[in-house]
Amino acid sequence: MESCPVAYTIDGYNGGMTSAPVNRFQSFRVAEFKESVIREMTRLAIQHGAVNLAQGFPDFPAPAEIKQAAQEAIAADVNQYAITWGSKPFREALRDYYRRFYQLDIDPEREITVCCGSTEGMIASLLALLNAGDEVVLFEPFYENYWPDSQLSGAVPRFVRLNPPDWTFDRAELRAAFSERTRAVILNTPNNPTGHVFSQEELAFLGDLCQEFDCLLITDEIYEHILFDTQRHVPPITLPGLRDRCVLVNSLSKTFSVTGWRVGWVIAPPALTGSIRKVHDFLTVGAAAPLQQAGITALNLPDAYFRELATTYEEKRNETVAMLESVGLRTYLPKGAYYVMCDISPFDFPSDVAFAKHLVEEIGVAAVPGSSFFRDLADGAHLIRFCFAKRKETLDAAGERLQKLRRG
Ligand code: GLN
Repeated sequence: MESCPVAYTIDGYNGGMTSAPVNRFQSFRVAEFKESVIREMTRLAIQHGAVNLAQGFPDFPAPAEIKQAAQEAIAADVNQYAITWGSKPFREALRDYYRRFYQLDIDPEREITVCCGSTEGMIASLLALLNAGDEVVLFEPFYENYWPDSQLSGAVPRFVRLNPPDWTFDRAELRAAFSERTRAVILNTPNNPTGHVFSQEELAFLGDLCQEFDCLLITDEIYEHILFDTQRHVPPITLPGLRDRCVLVNSLSKTFSVTGWRVGWVIAPPALTGSIRKVHDFLTVGAAAPLQQAGITALNLPDAYFRELATTYEEKRNETVAMLESVGLRTYLPKGAYYVMCDISPFDFPSDVAFAKHLVEEIGVAAVPGSSFFRDLADGAHLIRFCFAKRKETLDAAGERLQKLRRG
């Protein structure tokens, strides 16, 4: 098919894209996108019969009560469209949940949009709130969706490094990333892939910059309950001065082990929510109605559920870190979320991709090459990410296979 080297522009700006579409029916918007490496690794794991420690999803069952609630909702014929921005009882349950955990008051009528997972919540928010040429600050390494999300909305990403071993940012570097063109910052805390939990001081510094430069703070808080040691989650929206400039994105996926349900939400001030709801409506109409109904049961689970979630994941973290260290990988101890970043420098591999390929094909364990979390692939070429949201048997099986990596 004929190639199409025409410049793609939104208001004269091409989103920083340099690749031309491969044919006249491919848009410039996608010309530069790579396949999601995370999801590709899951396919490779299946193909090679490898233990999948790549894509972040649990291989253990969701809580019985919420599965029951979903079945009952379908049986009771909650099977037609919910209100496009979310069923009223589910939004009210979200209001109660934010009161219960963070003493935060949100208006379910004007400040919540229920979406198809936080993935849709993020892209709907960016499409609704950013204009072509606006700048958006991303912390790097970043969860791989944020870059294409920014590009789809026409925004220019500005990357700020999280530095190992603690994965904290340099204050001067962060400040230098802001300008009068900055429209938003995307923050993921607890952080995927580093496991960093941003401290109150870091959040306050970032919040001050958002106020000074009059920009939005878009927070992905999907791992809010997966915290270790003495960590505590502080939603930035609860900090002084940030109530009106935070867009909080979250979902049922990780907290309730239902990544396939695709039920997420966005909390934002009414004027912003108005825009987000419009984009959401035209993109998807709405999230699954019976699963929103079951979400009410999920959000109302007792405190013990949330405590046990953290304790169980902390045990899995400890086991996984010990197992990875025992075969010669250098780990960075995560403070939250369910991934371990590892330094593969002790192994003689030309790149993280070559190492991940060897792991999945020869050793029988799938992980995510670190370069997929960086703009410049070389910056992540010594890193690899393992997910530990897995049953003990799965982690043990991975551990056994990884013994083959053990050196001399
Ligand atoms: N957040 C998970 C990860 O980083 C899953 C992402 C996805 O594939 N939707 O692996």
